Amino acid sequence: MTAPSLDLVANTAQLEPARVVGRLAPSPTGLLHLGHARTFLCAWWSARSQGGRVLLRLEDLDGPRAAVRFSDAAQHDLEWLGLDWDGAPSVQSEHLARFAEAVDSLLAAGKAYACVCTRGDLRTAQNAPHAGDNEPRYPGTCRGRFASLAEAERASGRAPGVRLVVPRGPVRIDDTLAGPQSFDVAAEVGDFLIARRGGAPAYQLAVVVDDAEEGVTEVVRGADLLPSAARQWHVQTALGLPHPSYGHVALVTDEHGERLAKHADALSLAELRARGADPRAIVRWAAASFGLPSEELVTARELVPHLRLSALEDGPVRADRSLIARLTATPSR
Ligand code: GLU
Repeated sequence: MTAPSLDLVANTAQLEPARVVGRLAPSPTGLLHLGHARTFLCAWWSARSQGGRVLLRLEDLDGPRAAVRFSDAAQHDLEWLGLDWDGAPSVQSEHLARFAEAVDSLLAAGKAYACVCTRGDLRTAQNAPHAGDNEPRYPGTCRGRFASLAEAERASGRAPGVRLVVPRGPVRIDDTLAGPQSFDVAAEVGDFLIARRGGAPAYQLAVVVDDAEEGVTEVVRGADLLPSAARQWHVQTALGLPHPSYGHVALVTDEHGERLAKHADALSLAELRARGADPRAIVRWAAASFGLPSEELVTARELVPHLRLSALEDGPVRADRSLIARLTATPSR
Protein backbone atom coordinates (compact mmCIF):
# COMPACT_ATOMS: atom_id res chain seq x y z
CA MET A 1 0.00 0.00 0.00
CA THR A 2 1.29 3.43 -0.85
CA ALA A 3 1.36 6.15 1.73
CA PRO A 4 -1.43 8.72 1.31
CA SER A 5 -0.37 11.85 -0.49
CA LEU A 6 0.09 14.99 1.53
CA ASP A 7 -2.99 16.49 -0.12
CA LEU A 8 -5.11 13.64 1.09
CA VAL A 9 -3.77 14.00 4.62
CA ALA A 10 -4.52 17.72 4.56
CA ASN A 11 -8.06 17.09 3.28
CA THR A 12 -8.73 14.48 5.92
CA ALA A 13 -7.59 16.88 8.59
CA GLN A 14 -10.02 19.50 7.26
CA LEU A 15 -12.92 17.09 7.40
CA GLU A 16 -12.40 16.40 11.11
CA PRO A 17 -14.74 18.62 13.09
CA ALA A 18 -12.84 21.00 15.35
CA ARG A 19 -13.21 19.48 18.79
CA VAL A 20 -13.93 21.77 21.69
CA VAL A 21 -11.40 21.50 24.51
CA GLY A 22 -12.26 23.27 27.75
CA ARG A 23 -10.38 23.31 31.00
CA LEU A 24 -10.73 23.69 34.74
CA ALA A 25 -7.69 25.52 36.08
CA PRO A 26 -7.80 25.95 39.86
CA SER A 27 -4.91 27.55 41.71
CA PRO A 28 -4.29 25.35 44.76
CA THR A 29 -3.89 28.22 47.20
CA GLY A 30 -6.97 27.55 49.32
CA LEU A 31 -10.24 25.64 49.47
CA LEU A 32 -12.72 25.93 46.62
CA HIS A 33 -15.92 27.78 47.47
CA LEU A 34 -19.35 28.32 45.95
CA GLY A 35 -17.99 30.86 43.47
CA HIS A 36 -15.53 28.30 42.12
CA ALA A 37 -18.30 25.70 41.99
CA ARG A 38 -20.43 27.99 39.85
CA THR A 39 -17.55 28.86 37.50
CA PHE A 40 -16.27 25.31 37.13
CA LEU A 41 -19.76 23.95 36.54
CA CYS A 42 -20.20 26.53 33.79
CA ALA A 43 -16.86 25.66 32.17
CA TRP A 44 -17.63 21.95 32.34
CA TRP A 45 -21.18 22.36 31.04
CA SER A 46 -20.01 24.45 28.15
CA ALA A 47 -17.42 21.95 26.92
CA ARG A 48 -19.49 18.84 27.60
CA SER A 49 -22.62 20.24 25.98
CA GLN A 50 -20.61 20.63 22.76
CA GLY A 51 -19.30 17.07 23.01
CA GLY A 52 -15.92 18.50 23.97
CA ARG A 53 -13.10 17.42 26.19
CA VAL A 54 -12.41 18.87 29.61
CA LEU A 55 -8.89 19.10 31.03
CA LEU A 56 -7.87 19.72 34.61
CA ARG A 57 -4.83 21.89 35.18
CA LEU A 58 -3.47 22.64 38.62
CA GLU A 59 -1.97 26.13 38.47
CA ASP A 60 0.55 25.78 41.27
CA LEU A 61 3.05 28.45 40.25
CA ASP A 62 2.00 30.79 43.01
CA GLY A 63 5.10 30.13 45.10
CA PRO A 64 4.75 29.00 48.67
CA ARG A 65 1.01 29.65 48.77
CA ALA A 66 0.34 26.70 46.46
CA ALA A 67 0.04 23.47 48.43
CA VAL A 68 -0.43 19.84 47.46
CA ARG A 69 -3.19 19.48 50.02
CA PHE A 70 -5.21 22.14 48.20
CA SER A 71 -4.60 20.40 44.85
CA ASP A 72 -5.96 17.20 46.35
CA ALA A 73 -8.87 19.04 47.96
CA ALA A 74 -9.76 20.75 44.66
CA GLN A 75 -9.89 17.44 42.80
CA HIS A 76 -11.99 15.91 45.52
CA ASP A 77 -14.41 18.86 45.51
CA LEU A 78 -14.78 18.81 41.73
CA GLU A 79 -15.49 15.09 41.72
CA TRP A 80 -17.98 15.55 44.55
CA LEU A 81 -19.78 18.14 42.41
CA GLY A 82 -20.05 15.51 39.70
CA LEU A 83 -17.45 16.93 37.32
CA ASP A 84 -14.93 14.78 35.50
CA TRP A 85 -12.01 15.43 33.19
CA ASP A 86 -10.15 13.65 30.43
CA GLY A 87 -6.72 12.30 31.19
CA ALA A 88 -4.49 12.94 34.16
CA PRO A 89 -4.44 16.43 35.66
CA SER A 90 -1.70 18.63 34.29
CA VAL A 91 0.52 20.29 36.88
CA GLN A 92 1.81 23.69 35.86
CA SER A 93 5.02 23.56 37.92
CA GLU A 94 6.10 20.59 35.77
CA HIS A 95 6.10 22.79 32.65
CA LEU A 96 8.88 25.22 33.53
CA ALA A 97 10.98 24.22 30.50
CA ARG A 98 8.19 25.11 28.05
CA PHE A 99 7.65 28.47 29.73
CA ALA A 100 11.38 29.28 29.60
CA GLU A 101 11.47 28.34 25.92
CA ALA A 102 8.56 30.68 25.15
CA VAL A 103 10.24 33.56 27.00
CA ASP A 104 13.53 32.92 25.19
CA SER A 105 11.82 32.90 21.81
CA LEU A 106 10.12 36.22 22.54
CA LEU A 107 13.42 37.74 23.68
CA ALA A 108 15.17 36.44 20.56
CA ALA A 109 12.45 37.93 18.34
CA GLY A 110 12.70 41.33 20.05
CA LYS A 111 9.10 40.97 21.29
CA ALA A 112 10.16 41.01 24.94
CA TYR A 113 12.96 42.65 26.90
CA ALA A 114 14.88 42.48 30.15
CA CYS A 115 13.64 44.77 32.91
CA VAL A 116 15.57 45.56 36.08
CA CYS A 117 12.99 47.83 37.72
CA THR A 118 12.43 46.76 41.31
CA ARG A 119 9.15 46.48 43.08
CA GLY A 120 10.22 49.52 44.96
CA ASP A 121 10.54 51.33 41.63
CA LEU A 122 7.11 50.17 40.54
CA ARG A 123 4.39 48.30 42.32
CA THR A 124 3.93 45.27 40.08
CA ALA A 125 1.46 42.44 40.37
CA GLN A 126 3.04 39.16 39.35
CA ASN A 127 0.38 36.67 40.37
CA ALA A 128 -3.00 36.28 38.72
CA PRO A 129 -4.35 39.83 38.95
CA HIS A 130 -7.92 40.46 39.97
CA ALA A 131 -10.47 43.07 39.06
CA GLY A 132 -9.87 46.26 40.94
CA ASP A 133 -6.13 45.76 41.16
CA ASN A 134 -4.62 49.14 40.56
CA GLU A 135 -1.50 48.00 38.86
CA PRO A 136 0.16 51.20 37.69
CA ARG A 137 0.96 51.43 34.01
CA TYR A 138 4.55 50.39 33.32
CA PRO A 139 6.19 53.47 31.81
CA GLY A 140 8.58 51.49 29.60
CA THR A 141 11.74 52.42 31.54
CA CYS A 142 13.75 49.38 30.39
CA ARG A 143 12.38 49.06 26.85
CA GLY A 144 15.34 49.22 24.42
CA ARG A 145 17.82 49.59 27.28
CA PHE A 146 19.66 46.24 27.29
CA ALA A 147 20.69 43.91 24.47
CA SER A 148 20.20 40.76 26.57
CA LEU A 149 19.30 39.40 29.98
CA ALA A 150 23.00 38.94 30.73
CA GLU A 151 23.76 42.53 29.88
CA ALA A 152 20.88 43.76 32.04
CA GLU A 153 22.21 41.74 34.96
CA ARG A 154 25.79 42.94 34.46
CA ALA A 155 24.78 46.56 34.18
CA SER A 156 22.43 46.58 37.15
CA GLY A 157 23.80 43.84 39.41
CA ARG A 158 20.25 42.48 39.65
CA ALA A 159 18.46 39.49 38.17
CA PRO A 160 16.18 40.94 35.52
CA GLY A 161 12.52 40.19 34.85
CA VAL A 162 11.11 40.04 31.32
CA ARG A 163 8.36 42.25 29.85
CA LEU A 164 6.35 41.82 26.69
CA VAL A 165 6.47 44.64 24.14
CA VAL A 166 2.77 45.49 24.00
CA PRO A 167 1.63 46.97 20.67
CA ARG A 168 -0.54 50.07 20.82
CA GLY A 169 -4.25 49.96 20.24
CA PRO A 170 -7.28 48.16 21.61
CA VAL A 171 -7.88 44.42 21.66
CA ARG A 172 -11.49 43.38 21.14
CA ILE A 173 -12.71 40.21 22.73
CA ASP A 174 -16.15 38.85 22.03
CA ASP A 175 -16.77 37.28 25.41
CA THR A 176 -19.44 34.59 25.24
CA LEU A 177 -20.85 35.53 28.66
CA ALA A 178 -19.74 39.10 29.37
CA GLY A 179 -20.37 40.39 25.82
CA PRO A 180 -18.02 42.39 23.59
CA GLN A 181 -15.02 43.85 25.43
CA SER A 182 -12.30 46.25 24.43
CA PHE A 183 -9.04 46.83 26.30
CA ASP A 184 -6.10 48.99 25.39
CA VAL A 185 -3.37 47.15 27.26
CA ALA A 186 -0.59 49.47 26.06
CA ALA A 187 -2.46 52.49 27.40
CA GLU A 188 -3.81 50.91 30.60
CA VAL A 189 -1.10 48.48 31.73
CA GLY A 190 1.86 48.99 29.43
CA ASP A 191 4.50 46.32 28.84
CA PHE A 192 3.69 43.68 31.46
CA LEU A 193 5.84 41.03 33.05
CA ILE A 194 5.98 37.60 31.45
CA ALA A 195 8.77 36.38 33.75
CA ARG A 196 9.61 37.54 37.21
CA ARG A 197 13.03 38.62 38.30
CA GLY A 198 14.95 35.38 38.70
CA GLY A 199 13.11 33.77 35.80
CA ALA A 200 9.89 32.32 37.28
CA PRO A 201 7.14 32.54 34.64
CA ALA A 202 4.35 35.04 35.26
CA TYR A 203 0.74 33.85 35.20
CA GLN A 204 -0.02 35.66 31.91
CA LEU A 205 2.64 33.69 30.07
CA ALA A 206 2.15 30.31 31.75
CA VAL A 207 -1.58 30.21 31.14
CA VAL A 208 -1.19 31.04 27.44
CA VAL A 209 1.59 28.53 26.83
CA ASP A 210 -0.25 25.76 28.67
CA ASP A 211 -3.59 26.47 26.98
CA ALA A 212 -1.91 26.26 23.57
CA GLU A 213 0.20 23.22 24.42
CA GLU A 214 -2.83 21.39 25.76
CA GLY A 215 -5.00 22.28 22.76
CA VAL A 216 -7.50 24.35 24.76
CA THR A 217 -10.03 26.02 22.44
CA GLU A 218 -12.35 27.49 25.07
CA VAL A 219 -11.52 29.37 28.27
CA VAL A 220 -14.39 29.72 30.75
CA ARG A 221 -13.32 31.24 34.08
CA GLY A 222 -14.09 33.92 36.66
CA ALA A 223 -14.83 37.50 35.63
CA ASP A 224 -11.95 38.73 37.78
CA LEU A 225 -9.70 37.56 34.96
CA LEU A 226 -11.49 39.47 32.20
CA PRO A 227 -8.80 42.20 31.92
CA SER A 228 -6.20 39.42 31.76
CA ALA A 229 -7.79 38.07 28.59
CA ALA A 230 -6.51 41.06 26.61
CA ARG A 231 -3.00 40.62 28.00
CA GLN A 232 -3.12 36.97 27.11
CA TRP A 233 -4.33 37.89 23.63
CA HIS A 234 -1.11 39.87 23.13
CA VAL A 235 1.02 36.98 24.40
CA GLN A 236 -0.76 34.60 22.01
CA THR A 237 -0.21 36.96 19.09
CA ALA A 238 3.47 37.46 19.94
CA LEU A 239 4.00 33.69 20.12
CA GLY A 240 1.97 33.03 16.95
CA LEU A 241 -0.56 30.94 18.89
CA PRO A 242 -4.29 30.64 18.20
CA HIS A 243 -6.75 32.61 20.35
CA PRO A 244 -9.20 30.45 22.30
CA SER A 245 -12.77 31.65 22.84
CA TYR A 246 -13.45 33.37 26.16
CA GLY A 247 -16.36 33.30 28.58
CA HIS A 248 -15.99 35.11 31.90
CA VAL A 249 -18.43 34.06 34.59
CA ALA A 250 -19.79 36.70 37.01
CA LEU A 251 -18.46 36.42 40.54
CA VAL A 252 -20.31 35.25 43.62
CA THR A 253 -20.24 37.74 46.47
CA ASP A 254 -20.99 37.37 50.17
CA GLU A 255 -23.91 39.07 51.91
CA HIS A 256 -21.95 42.34 52.07
CA GLY A 257 -21.32 42.28 48.34
CA GLU A 258 -17.66 41.32 48.78
CA ARG A 259 -16.13 38.79 46.42
CA LEU A 260 -15.79 35.40 48.09
CA ALA A 261 -12.24 34.72 49.19
CA LYS A 262 -10.61 31.35 49.55
CA HIS A 263 -10.44 31.86 53.30
CA ALA A 264 -14.23 32.25 53.54
CA ASP A 265 -14.38 28.71 54.86
CA ALA A 266 -18.06 28.78 55.74
CA LEU A 267 -18.75 28.83 52.04
CA SER A 268 -16.10 26.29 51.10
CA LEU A 269 -17.32 23.16 49.40
CA ALA A 270 -15.46 21.08 51.99
CA GLU A 271 -17.42 22.77 54.78
CA LEU A 272 -20.74 22.39 52.98
CA ARG A 273 -19.98 18.71 52.44
CA ALA A 274 -19.02 18.29 56.10
CA ARG A 275 -22.36 19.86 57.02
CA GLY A 276 -24.17 17.26 54.93
CA ALA A 277 -25.04 19.26 51.81
CA ASP A 278 -26.09 17.33 48.73
CA PRO A 279 -23.91 18.33 45.74
CA ARG A 280 -27.06 18.27 43.62
CA ALA A 281 -28.41 21.17 45.68
CA ILE A 282 -25.30 23.17 44.71
CA VAL A 283 -25.77 22.18 41.07
CA ARG A 284 -29.42 23.24 41.23
CA TRP A 285 -28.47 26.58 42.83
CA ALA A 286 -25.80 27.23 40.18
CA ALA A 287 -28.14 26.29 37.32
CA ALA A 288 -30.89 28.57 38.70
CA SER A 289 -28.37 31.41 38.94
CA PHE A 290 -27.77 30.98 35.18
CA GLY A 291 -31.51 31.18 34.46
CA LEU A 292 -32.21 27.44 34.51
CA PRO A 293 -34.44 26.84 37.54
CA SER A 294 -35.34 23.29 38.47
CA GLU A 295 -37.72 21.85 41.05
CA GLU A 296 -35.77 18.64 41.21
CA LEU A 297 -32.31 17.98 42.52
CA VAL A 298 -30.11 17.45 39.48
CA THR A 299 -26.62 16.21 38.81
CA ALA A 300 -24.21 18.25 36.72
CA ARG A 301 -24.38 15.63 33.98
CA GLU A 302 -28.18 15.59 33.82
CA LEU A 303 -28.12 19.26 32.86
CA VAL A 304 -25.68 18.87 29.97
CA PRO A 305 -28.36 18.48 27.26
CA HIS A 306 -30.06 21.70 28.43
CA LEU A 307 -27.02 23.92 28.28
CA ARG A 308 -25.58 26.31 25.79
CA LEU A 309 -23.06 28.82 27.09
CA SER A 310 -24.32 31.69 24.94
CA ALA A 311 -27.89 31.14 26.22
CA LEU A 312 -27.01 31.37 29.91
CA GLU A 313 -28.09 34.43 31.85
CA ASP A 314 -25.17 35.56 33.92
CA GLY A 315 -24.78 38.30 36.49
CA PRO A 316 -23.34 38.76 39.99
CA VAL A 317 -24.77 36.32 42.52
CA ARG A 318 -25.01 36.69 46.29
CA ALA A 319 -24.37 33.80 48.61
CA ASP A 320 -25.83 34.72 51.99
CA ARG A 321 -26.64 32.80 55.14
CA SER A 322 -30.05 31.74 53.89
CA LEU A 323 -28.40 30.08 50.89
CA ILE A 324 -26.04 28.13 53.15
CA ALA A 325 -29.02 27.10 55.28
CA ARG A 326 -30.90 25.93 52.18
CA LEU A 327 -27.94 24.02 50.80
CA THR A 328 -27.19 22.24 54.04
CA ALA A 329 -30.88 21.54 54.66
CA THR A 330 -30.72 19.27 51.61
CA PRO A 331 -28.82 16.35 53.05
CA SER A 332 -27.25 13.82 50.73
CA ARG A 333 -28.33 10.27 51.13
N1 GLU B 1 -5.72 29.60 38.15
C1 GLU B 1 -6.47 30.81 38.00
C2 GLU B 1 -7.34 31.04 39.22
O1 GLU B 1 -7.68 30.08 39.91
C3 GLU B 1 -7.36 30.74 36.79
C4 GLU B 1 -6.58 30.99 35.57
C5 GLU B 1 -7.36 30.87 34.30
O2 GLU B 1 -8.42 30.24 34.28
O3 GLU B 1 -6.88 31.40 33.32
O4 GLU B 1 -7.67 32.19 39.52
